[in-house]
Amino acid sequence: MTSPKTLREASCADDYDPDSMPVDKARSLIREFLAPVNATERVHIRQALSRVLAADVVSPLDVPGHDNSAMDGYAIRFADLKPTGETVLTRVGESFAGKPATVAIDAGQCLRIFTGAVMPHGADAVVMQERAREENGRVFIAPGALTKSGQNRRFAGEDLKSGQVVFRTGQRVHPAELGMMASLGIGEVSVYRRLRVAFFSTGDELKSIGTPLAAGDIYDSNRYTLHGMLARLDCEMLDMGVVPDIPEALEHAFATAADAADVVITSGGVSVGEADFVKQLLEKLGEVLFWKIAMKPGRPLAYGRIHDAHFFGLPGNPVSVMVTFYQFVRDALRVLQGERDVGPVPTFKVPLSAAIRKAPGRTEFQRGILASDGSGGWSVRTTGDQGSGILSSMSHANCFIVLPADCGNCNIGDRVDVQLLEGLI
Ligand code: AMP
Ligand code: MG
Repeated sequence: MTSPKTLREASCADDYDPDSMPVDKARSLIREFLAPVNATERVHIRQALSRVLAADVVSPLDVPGHDNSAMDGYAIRFADLKPTGETVLTRVGESFAGKPATVAIDAGQCLRIFTGAVMPHGADAVVMQERAREENGRVFIAPGALTKSGQNRRFAGEDLKSGQVVFRTGQRVHPAELGMMASLGIGEVSVYRRLRVAFFSTGDELKSIGTPLAAGDIYDSNRYTLHGMLARLDCEMLDMGVVPDIPEALEHAFATAADAADVVITSGGVSVGEADFVKQLLEKLGEVLFWKIAMKPGRPLAYGRIHDAHFFGLPGNPVSVMVTFYQFVRDALRVLQGERDVGPVPTFKVPLSAAIRKAPGRTEFQRGILASDGSGGWSVRTTGDQGSGILSSMSHANCFIVLPADCGNCNIGDRVDVQLLEGLI
C-alpha cells in the first residue's frame, strides 16, 4: 500500500470517526505529516541551550586527558604493598591538580598526590590518605589499604575517547550537554534554526491586558499560557494578538500567520457553532481537519495546513489550551525542531489518596497534586473542580492524572497514571 498523500486521505484510511477521535490516533496522524526544519546555524554553546543539534558532536580529546588520581593520598606501585602488615615507602615528591610531578617513582617509593592530579610514571594505584601516615619523608601504609592495581586511579579516556560521537544530531541541548561540550573545548556547535510559531486568540469577548473590560468581556489568557509554553521550547514567537470573530479579519490573520511562520496556533473558535464558518474559511486556505477528540478537557481540535504552515486550532477554554498543547502540540513542535526520538511523555503509576468520579468514554487529563504519602511513597489526588475554564487548577497542579477512555470511577488506593508537569512547563 502506498502512503496516503493528503491529510484527509490519511485520516480516512482507517475509518476513524471524527466525532470521537482517540487521543493516540490523533497524535499518530499528526506525526505522519511533520517534517523537521532543515536550515542550520552555528552558535556559541551558550546560545545552544534548549536548541537541537544539527550535527553529531565528536570528541576531539580523550576525557580525562591523563591518568589521574581519584582522591587525595599517595601514588604507589601495587606490587610494593605487603599482603599482610604495614608497608613503609619513601616519599619522593608530590603531584597537584594542574601541577604534575616531575619525578617518576621506583620500587619502594611513593608520591603525595591530590584529586585530579596526573599519575606519576611508575605508579599504578593510589592509597587514600586516611589509610596512610607520614613521618619525616616516610609513609606508612595500613595493611589491606588496596586490593588491586589500578584502584583510586582514573584512566585517560575512561569518560570519552577522542573521535567518539558524544551527542547525536537531533539531540536537544541541556545544561549537562553545555558542560560536556565545554569540557571538550568545543565553543561552537551546529543547531537547527529556531521554529517560527505565530499565534492568536479568537473571540469578540477577549480583551488584551491594559484595556478596560466592558460587560461580558474577559481578559485573554491563552496567549500568555501559549507564550510561556512556546518559550520553554525556545520557539521564535509571533504574537498576533486577539482577532475578532469576523470572517475577513480571521482570513487575513490566518493567511498572514501562515506566511510568516512554520506553525500557526490559534485558540477558540473551533467549538460547535463557531466551527462552521471557521471551517469554510480554512477550506479556502488549506487543508484542515476538525476533530472531536475523545478526551476531557480539550474535545474540539483542528489540525492541518494553511499554505505551507502547520496549523493547530486549539479549543478556547484556558485549561483545554494547555492540555491539548501538552498532549498534541508540544511533541509535534519538538519533531519540527529536528529532535529525534521524541517518545511519549513519561507516565508512571501512583495510588490515589482520594476517589475520582469519571464516566467511561473519554480519556481524562485531570489536574493532580502528587505528594509524599508520609511513609516514604507518593500518592496523588485531584486539585478539585476540573472545569475546563478553571485555570487555577493548572496552577495548583504538579501533574496530570491520565485516566484512560474505558475507565470509570476510581477509588482510594487505585493506581492511576500520572505525568509530571515539571519538565513540561
Ligand atoms: P470558544 O472555543 O471560542 O467557544 O471558547 C470557549 C470558552 O473559552 C469561552 O468561554 C471563551 O470565552 C473562552 N476563551 C476563548 N478564548 C479565550 C482566551 N484567549 N482567553 C481566555 N478565555 C478564552
Ligand atoms: Mg470563541
